[in-house]
Amino acid sequence: MTVPAILAALSVAFPRPGAALPSVERCYVLGAAAPGTTNVVVSGSSFPVHPQGGWVAMAELKPGTNTISVSCVEPGAEAAAETNIVVVVAPKPPLIDKVVDKVTQPEYKKLDYAGDTPRPHPSEHPDRVPVVVIDPGHGENDTGALSPHSLPEKDANLRLALAVKAELVKRGWKVVMTREDDSFPKLYDRPKVAHREGADAFVSIHHNAPPIDKDPRKLRYHCVYAWNEIGERLATAVNRRMAAALGESLKNNGVMKGNLAVTRNPEIPSCLVEADFVTTPEGEIDCWSRERRAKVAAAIADGLDDWRRRQPEP
Ligand SMILES: [Zn+2]
Repeated sequence: MTVPAILAALSVAFPRPGAALPSVERCYVLGAAAPGTTNVVVSGSSFPVHPQGGWVAMAELKPGTNTISVSCVEPGAEAAAETNIVVVVAPKPPLIDKVVDKVTQPEYKKLDYAGDTPRPHPSEHPDRVPVVVIDPGHGENDTGALSPHSLPEKDANLRLALAVKAELVKRGWKVVMTREDDSFPKLYDRPKVAHREGADAFVSIHHNAPPIDKDPRKLRYHCVYAWNEIGERLATAVNRRMAAALGESLKNNGVMKGNLAVTRNPEIPSCLVEADFVTTPEGEIDCWSRERRAKVAAAIADGLDDWRRRQPEP
């Protein structure tokens, strides 16, 4: 699927709906203009527009102001298209932290239903069909990050997760999804699915966005988050295959420590894949490209197969 061209007037969005600014000095905004528009002017500074219409810009805010002005001259237009967005300048914590429930203390927060001992690795019972829970992040009103054309991360997550499911089924896995449509299972109910299903592994699928005051044009990579040792082994296998499949096309940030609601499970190896960033025009195109999705899905499935067979041996 290609990114739908926005032919209407200039659109502009805050990267996360309802998010508040952590500082009043700068933030990024993104949006789309008619294809062929060469540049947008954001609060007085000019930024290039991608040939497909997507753009992302940094807005410098003057103290005391909470409005960002955006304008552009579209091809064939008589006058400039203009729009303003009002930003929330109260330094409330951004919603992004709630979504992944980032916890700063070094101890994991125990899942009250989970035991402390890791379950036997699937290589110890090779006759049993391996079970994995795949968790497409966000859903329903929780869009996750937005791309320049306002395509929501929740949709990229679901598409990639369903492609991963199809690959794993071909490889003989039983796959249980936390969602298969635009619904929103509660964050803490997601790892519970793995517990209930007696799963061997849990993989959450996300796409990334920078903090609201960082410049998205300089931030694009893939990585896998894990918290404990069993999760790290799974994450390493998945990341190795993703890095091999994507090569030079996308920076690899490797396996990262992530104390997240979905990675803390002491019983079931769990990890969270950040497959790419949706926030640049180029990232948006790749995140919604069927061909690229197939490549990433096969890599994640290969990683799970390596992990299941303990290949290569650590
Ligand atoms: Zn996400």
